[in-house]
This record gives sequence, C-alpha cells and structure tokens, in this order.
Amino acid sequence: MNAITANQVSARFDIQPAKEPLSSEERAKRMQNPGFGKVFSEHMIVIPYNEETGWGKGVLKPYGPIVLDPAASVLHYGQAIFEGFKAYKQPDGSIKTFRPEANAHRFNASARRLAMPELPVDLFVEAADLLITQEQAWVPDAVGESLYLRPLMIATEAALGVRASKEYLFILIASPSGAYFPQGVKPVTVWISENYVRAAPGGTGSAKCAGNYAASLVAQKEAKAEGCDQVVWLDAVHRRYIEEMGGMNIFFVYKENGETIVATPVLTGTLLPGVTRLTLLDLAKKLGFRAEERRISVDDWAEALRNGTMTEAFACGTAAVITPIGTVKSAHGEWKVNGGETGPVASKLREALLNLQHGVDPDPNGWMHKVC
Ligand SMILES: *Cc1c(COP(=O)(O)O)cnc(C)c1O
Repeated sequence: MNAITANQVSARFDIQPAKEPLSSEERAKRMQNPGFGKVFSEHMIVIPYNEETGWGKGVLKPYGPIVLDPAASVLHYGQAIFEGFKAYKQPDGSIKTFRPEANAHRFNASARRLAMPELPVDLFVEAADLLITQEQAWVPDAVGESLYLRPLMIATEAALGVRASKEYLFILIASPSGAYFPQGVKPVTVWISENYVRAAPGGTGSAKCAGNYAASLVAQKEAKAEGCDQVVWLDAVHRRYIEEMGGMNIFFVYKENGETIVATPVLTGTLLPGVTRLTLLDLAKKLGFRAEERRISVDDWAEALRNGTMTEAFACGTAAVITPIGTVKSAHGEWKVNGGETGPVASKLREALLNLQHGVDPDPNGWMHKVC
C-alpha cells in the first residue's frame, strides 16, 4: 500500500505521520477482535478555529491525547458535536465511504444549533479522505467490518462567561470496527421510557450533540434495570409518539391488505435525521415495499402487535446497521414482535445496505465516495 505522497496533499493540511509506525504484526493483533469503538488507528486530524482568523491549517499527526485549558468552555457549557460514518473495503481493494457529504451537512446543522462555526463540506470530506488514505491498512476486509470515522468539534476557549466560544477544535479519529454483533444479529428487548425524554420541541434533538447523549444515559440505566437492552423514546409533549431507540432511528413493518409497508416516525425536529434512515426509506422502495413516514403512538404499536398487522420492528444507524426489536416492554405491559425473532424485511434491508456499502451491489444513486 502506498503512503501518502506530497502531491496528494492539499495546502490545507500539514502531514506529520508517526516517526515509528506500528509493525504490521502489532496492527493485525489490534485489529483481530476490534469490537466497536475500542481500538483506534495510529493517526488523527485536528483543525483549529479562531473567530478572527477562521479555520486554520489542519494537521495529520499521531493519535494521542489533546491538551485543554481547564477553563475550556466545552468542559463547562458543553459545546460539543460529533458525527459517525464508515469506510468500506471494496471487492477491487479500493476504499469507499458512504454518503460522507450527508454527514458533513448534518455536522454543520448541529454546529448551527450549538452556535458553533460550520466547517466547509469539502474540508470535512478532504479531512476524512486524508486520514483514511493514511490509515488504509486499518480498514478491515470482511463484509460487516469497516473503519469507523468519528469527527467531532469542541469549544476550546478558556472563558467562563456564558456565551459561544471564540475558539474551537475539529478532530477526526478512526476506529476499525468488527461486526457489531459478532454472534450474529440478535433481536433486542426495548424499554419504553415514560420517566425521561430525549428531546423536546425547540431543543437539540435534531443535533448530534454530546449533551443529548449525557441526558440519555440515566434512561438507558433504567432500561437495563428493567431487563432491557435499549430505551425507546417518546415525544416530550404528548408522551405518546415513538421517536427513536437509544441512538438509532426506528422502523416498523406492517402487512396491510397484502402489501408490506416499511414505516418510520416522521421527522418533527426532535428526532435525529439519520443517514441510514434516509437510505433505508429509499432501499425499501427499491425492494418493492411501500416506504412511509408516519406518526406512530405507543398505543398504535401495541394494537398493531395485538391484531397482527405489525410484523417486524427494528432500529437503524451507522454503527450497528440494523438491530431487530424482539420484545417491547413498558410499565404497562410486554409484547413480542415477530415471536422475538429477526424478520425477513429487516434481514433483506440489512443485506441490501451492506451489499451496497461493500460494493457487492451496484450504486445507482452515487452514494459511495471513492477515497483511495
Ligand atoms: C447518529 C444518530 C442516529 C443515526 O444516524 P445515522 O446517520 O444513521 O448513523 C440516530 N439517532 C441518534 C440520536 C443519533 O445520534
């Protein structure tokens, strides 16, 4: 594999690779059983921002700790956003990412909501291409495995006055990830949270910000205490409409008059607009299903399971792709979905998405972005 050469590099980055690269044996050892988000590649990218001078020169450098002033405003007032997308090995040995511009645009939407500066979309994609090219040996080969990219932005100005920071740091790290479910896809049990909400109208629900996750952890603990794997969020106003499952979007499959309907909650401003969600709405149509965005209440969910019109439910996101829901629990009852088993529609959609991302199937929409 080729190392980065100077002419591949734009003027926007300084390239300072590790002086003592990891041996291929050591890398292979770390990549053997990477799981998710536990192993990190050798390099990272940082780009500083200053209100006066804008985005500065980026640096590709060895992965490692960053230094922050204890008064850095991210540590106090939480201006922190992130993204997640993946690089996939293709059958011809090349490496492609999936819809990275969509993540770049969403990153900027999150930035606007948190009064942070936007990063030019082409700079976001270039940073990712640069890091992936440097780390191409860290991209696993097998279908279902990938190099997970985690871009983030934090407020770094040392100032305790409550206002938007004037200084920020964009950081990009990469983590080889194995199959999210090494034992195969296994349906999860979900807990419908009635004590906590994830997002309220006017809040930050549609931004991918760290604070949303901080606020969700206690509900996730409650779900665990109830014997469940994940929490299902209801809308904050009526406490009735299904919004998401944990950090993933949610889908329901109905059989109505002989037709298969793949439905997901409509985006109301409190849901995170997932790239996987958007992609599955399209793939569902291509597979011959009717794809719909609906408002779905807890009562609708229970009723459709009781009368048999709902045949499957599953969650989706970049990290775990598709996670079937086998059992639904709340303070008022417990329901099985598809007898607690993975259903055929979830399986078909999962396969279609993975085949597209790994270059097994054609890419008519031009969603795959060639990196190297
Ligand atoms: C990131 C995220 C998703 C999934 O988005 P993808 O773009 O499909 O990975 C869904 N819900 C929440 C709350 C998220 O943070």
